[in-house]
Amino acid sequence: MKTYRKELWFNVSTLRAFINITPQVQECLRESGIKEGFVLVNAMHITASVFINDDESGLHSDFDKWLEKLAPHEPVSQYRHNNGEDNADAHLKRQIMGREVVVAITNGKLDFGTWEQIFYGEFDGRRKKRVLVKIIGE
Ligand code: ZN
Repeated sequence: MKTYRKELWFNVSTLRAFINITPQVQECLRESGIKEGFVLVNAMHITASVFINDDESGLHSDFDKWLEKLAPHEPVSQYRHNNGEDNADAHLKRQIMGREVVVAITNGKLDFGTWEQIFYGEFDGRRKKRVLVKIIGE
């Protein structure tokens, strides 16, 4: 069995963003040489997510609006976690959007369903953060 590990780095200039990281994951898969197996992609921070959905800007704006309704950033004083911090909403948003995804690898390709793409969801940006890509198989 082969294994492959890589960290992808992000430094988003806004507080929140959704980034399609499918090309980077495909590049990792190519580098790994693995043809059959699984890839795990996870955020290495508790205020960011990795999730799978459609690459459609209307949907991304809908996600952002929906998350802001569930856990508004302001006023930051509404959260007990914000005791010297201001990112309680980002922890809550990450919990809803998820920590990681696992995708099957078949014939050297990510074995996606229709329209599936992998996204990095940033909820507390303006600093360097990491995503782990771990691939196992042969
Ligand atoms: Zn925090």
